[in-house]
Amino acid sequence: MARATLPAPAVFVDRDGTLIEEVGYLDRPDRVQLYPWSVAAIRALNRAGVRVVMVTNQSGVARGFFTETVVEEVHARISEELAAGGAHLDAYYYCPHHPDGRIREYARACDCRKPGRALVDRAVDEFNIDLTRSFAVGDRWFDVGLARAVGARGILVRTGYGAREERSAPDGLAADAVVNNFVEAASWILERLRA
Ligand SMILES: [Mg+2]
Ligand SMILES: [Zn+2]
Repeated sequence: MARATLPAPAVFVDRDGTLIEEVGYLDRPDRVQLYPWSVAAIRALNRAGVRVVMVTNQSGVARGFFTETVVEEVHARISEELAAGGAHLDAYYYCPHHPDGRIREYARACDCRKPGRALVDRAVDEFNIDLTRSFAVGDRWFDVGLARAVGARGILVRTGYGAREERSAPDGLAADAVVNNFVEAASWILERLRA
């Protein structure tokens, strides 16, 4: 049966160092600090009909630094701040795992830790997404690697760890764009989608 809507492009956006300040392991919602441009950037993507899906590695859960409840409280905090500015994320997906974790239920290799693609596949199942017109944005090379893994375009931002990452690109992996921050990434994306 045909779907009711045409497949939409999506932006898979990293959290720490991309939407919010990188503060190490974020273990309290009151430490959430959105970058000043994040609300406007997401609102512009929302208005263009682009799905915006957070995809974040939160190995602090496996390491025992904080619980999934804390991750969800952090996301509720981000959601409130976005809503106050008329913006929203379509989904908040995270990987709580790590092979070296000390919390047994999370201590494993998995397919959802970036650059693994399982969270993107979940978004494709849940929303009607055209990966060939989609983008992954983040401050680490594994964010660009995620884009490569799913056939989307990858953008490295220089916030968070990004400026450092830019100086040490792994062999065989190049970003489609390197930009100063997420609002520049959103502009780059919207230009490509209009073309
Ligand atoms: Mg990051
Ligand atoms: Zn995982």
